[in-house]
Amino acid sequence: MSQQENLPFDEEYYQPPYKAVYRESIENAEKFWRKMSEELEWFYPYEKVLDETNAPFYRWFSGGRINISYNALDRNLKSRGNKIAIYWENEKGENIGLTYSQLYNEVNRFAKVLQDLGIKKGDRAVIYLPLMPELPISMLALARLGAIHSIVFSGFSVQALIDRINDAKAKMVITTTHTMRRNKRVELKGIVDQAVEQTPSVENVLVIKRNEEPVMKKKDVLYQDLAKRTGYKKVEVEETSSTDPLFILYTSGTTGKPKGIFHLHGGYGIWTYLTTKWVFDLRDNDVFFNTADIGWITGHSYIVYGPLQAGATVLMYEGVPDYPNPDRWWELVEKYNVTVFYTSPTAIRSLMKYGEDWIKNHDLSTLRILGSVGEPINPEAWRWYYKNIGNSSLPIVDTWWQTETGGIMISATPGLGNYMLKPSANGLPLPGVDADVFTEEGIPTNPREKGYIVIKRPWPGMLAGVWNDPDRYIKTYWSKFQGVYYPGDYAVKDEDGFFFILGRADEVLKIAGHRIGTREIEDILISHPAVAESAVIGIPDPVRGETAVAAVVLKQGYTPSSQLRKELEDYVKKTLGSIVIFGGIYFVSKLPKTRSGKIMRRLVRSVISGQTLGDVSTLEDETSVDELKKVIEEFS
Ligand code: ATP
Ligand code: MG
Repeated sequence: MSQQENLPFDEEYYQPPYKAVYRESIENAEKFWRKMSEELEWFYPYEKVLDETNAPFYRWFSGGRINISYNALDRNLKSRGNKIAIYWENEKGENIGLTYSQLYNEVNRFAKVLQDLGIKKGDRAVIYLPLMPELPISMLALARLGAIHSIVFSGFSVQALIDRINDAKAKMVITTTHTMRRNKRVELKGIVDQAVEQTPSVENVLVIKRNEEPVMKKKDVLYQDLAKRTGYKKVEVEETSSTDPLFILYTSGTTGKPKGIFHLHGGYGIWTYLTTKWVFDLRDNDVFFNTADIGWITGHSYIVYGPLQAGATVLMYEGVPDYPNPDRWWELVEKYNVTVFYTSPTAIRSLMKYGEDWIKNHDLSTLRILGSVGEPINPEAWRWYYKNIGNSSLPIVDTWWQTETGGIMISATPGLGNYMLKPSANGLPLPGVDADVFTEEGIPTNPREKGYIVIKRPWPGMLAGVWNDPDRYIKTYWSKFQGVYYPGDYAVKDEDGFFFILGRADEVLKIAGHRIGTREIEDILISHPAVAESAVIGIPDPVRGETAVAAVVLKQGYTPSSQLRKELEDYVKKTLGSIVIFGGIYFVSKLPKTRSGKIMRRLVRSVISGQTLGDVSTLEDETSVDELKKVIEEFS
């Protein structure tokens, strides 16, 4: 697999200061973080860089006072007041631009409304909004008051919303009437109305009016009414301590029941600020387009908190990439002169099928860095992205991180002069990230030997815990290996220190004594001309330990047949070796995925082994599971 074939491992791509900065961050950690933390504004200096007294509940910059909303807005007012902070556009092409000072005013007005409704430091509010400007505005307003937000992705339905409101014991829900998706109205307030019947902690629902009159219920208050009365007044910022919670956010639920991760003002603030600069190299004339929804960590950290603290301009798009046409994103890149573009492998795969003609009519020459996040990017998608969007010349930062890590952990770092990319690799650890790969016994692997990725020391962006569940925090992340953070991913590290993520640790296949990451087989299947997407799992086999089973989505123009099944088996064997024995290849029209687009292999496994499905609260489309059931029944 020579995915980044045009960008060889070459010292030329590897300029200072990455190496020196990384070394300093590890060898002189205390001094390093003191220096880095000076780039943001503190109300009161911290005592300790890292407080380990209650490990593994590590606390960063304890004793200090800092507020992330202040650092995103007030701090940028003087030098960047008239610079655009947020461009927003919807499907129809309606758009606005908010400068830093306009955003500051909106956030203060929103904060005043919240304050008048009794929201204060430590209170929790759930935000259930689409990608509209009031989403970042309400986040920043809550943070300004020291209140804690928990954003529920607007695609989630009633039960997920109820669970998250009750877990946080939220005092308020912030919502709007609807959003538009492919020119169809998607109801939001109706879902909130149902949810609040089962969430006793909610005192108010703050409803933001769009272009229709909301039907008001008992607890509802209309934002526009209150805002008109309030006007634009400055609201004193809460001088939160570094270790005060900023938000709760649930993981994607790819491997099990979502975990309610929470992050703090200080460490998370510094980590998102620094990683934005290191990875995306944002400078003053950059326009950053991150296609993620703010309902996921990628949007929290790299639409809102990182870029705004860094004083950048971000573009927010409320819509899907292929409506009205599959060139919607490229239209936006051209229109706003986007320079840094960040998306996911699943989005790239979905756009690939429309062909390159949709790209050719657009001038994408302002782009200078491309990024990927969410899942391993398979070589087919990488090549397409590199060639068609990157004009075969732009670096692709393949950023590995998690809701739990707060920000990017492993990636190339153009902002530190490190553009170096290798076939299929995510890259090198960011400064402060002491990453390694361990064997089952907790010993570092040899180069190119597979194992579990681990982080051997705390870093500022690390999760503070699992909300309401300290035991789950310890069990999930700090129990596999003594004193070491366990992310739950499978990986290798090569002799140059590059990391390659091979999939989820609990989805590794064990075939005839060999361990194979799901990614390894899936990458090969997708490189076959007939295959669009695949999900591979292992099922027990009395002789070989496990055999591989694949659910495969074919590209347009190909039809399922036993001949094609045989061809795919042979194709994988030819590439990976004859150890890979298939227990079945099932052709389906779609894979079970989370609402953020990640493949849910555990559901493929449950269906194939006839077990109960487990938590399906984040499953995007239930018919994917039904179809798979049917295909398997027909086959056997
Ligand atoms: P859950 O923890 O509930 O199962 P999740 O792990 O998908 O869900 P997220 O925090 O959204 O929740 O995703 C983090 C995971 O996504 C990582 O642990 C990793 O498996 C995968 N991932 C993210 N970025 C990359 C990347 N660039 N390359 C490979 N894998 C990635
Ligand atoms: Mg996870």
